[in-house]
Amino acid sequence: MSIINCPECRSPVSDKSKICPHCGFAIGEASEEDLQRAARIRRLKQQQRLNMTLYLAMICFIAGFLALYYGRQNPGSPLEWVGYIGLTIGGLGYLAVRVLTLAAKRR
Ligand SMILES: [Zn+2]
Repeated sequence: MSIINCPECRSPVSDKSKICPHCGFAIGEASEEDLQRAARIRRLKQQQRLNMTLYLAMICFIAGFLALYYGRQNPGSPLEWVGYIGLTIGGLGYLAVRVLTLAAKRR
């Protein structure tokens, strides 16, 4: 008996089990076509998650920019800090998504 990765959810599963205990994918009956379809769907879902994270990061960045724009009129105000935090989270989130997107394409 050995451990394989479920084609659908990538969780470790025994190669003897017919059904993935994590997502219910029928491993035993999966044809090559099923496996390819599962891999394609998994890539699409991953891309959707990355896109969603990218939108959130951009919203964070824009909100941070606006907060900073208005917060700078009162230096040291909470709004100014919200601006810095928003810009930081948005910028780092954007970079993280870019790196993860490149890593996903290379696989
Ligand atoms: Zn699974």
